[in-house]
Amino acid sequence: MPSDLSQSINPLRLAKARERIVGEIQLNSLARLKGILLDYKGKLEYSLAFEFDAEEVCIIECAIETELVLECQRCFKPVEVDIRKNSLLGVVDESVEIDSLAKEYEPVQLDEDGVITVEELIEEELLLSIPLSALHPVDKCEGINDLDRINAEAKLQPFAGLAALIKDKD
Ligand SMILES: [Zn+2]
Repeated sequence: MPSDLSQSINPLRLAKARERIVGEIQLNSLARLKGILLDYKGKLEYSLAFEFDAEEVCIIECAIETELVLECQRCFKPVEVDIRKNSLLGVVDESVEIDSLAKEYEPVQLDEDGVITVEELIEEELLLSIPLSALHPVDKCEGINDLDRINAEAKLQPFAGLAALIKDKD
């Protein structure tokens, strides 16, 4: 297991040895998450298992698990969202092109030296798993009452307008 997450790993070499890497990453160390979370104190647990499939494609079984604090799109208060994602990544290199990759694999592009960092892999997976619109459950969201109130006011509006009109005539 690499002690430094920004250290490069070679998936092909790890697949030959059928290696598995398990570890944790602090959320505040993932640069591309900046601006998305309301709280960066948490950490993420991951597991990466490397092997070759029957077609000799290098695959990575990736599992991530964390809890993110996102902004509820209804009340704009923090909402904790459990993230659990399991995916099969297919390594794309000079011998395997993206188009030829089996549909169930998410493509992973290695850099020129045929390596990638654990951090990059995990960061990409996490970004793909973040919901576009995070919401509290209806019974826990402070935005529900506000919405109800706004709806109620909207219904009363014609009468309020009428009252103002009558008042103006006085
Ligand atoms: Zn809410």
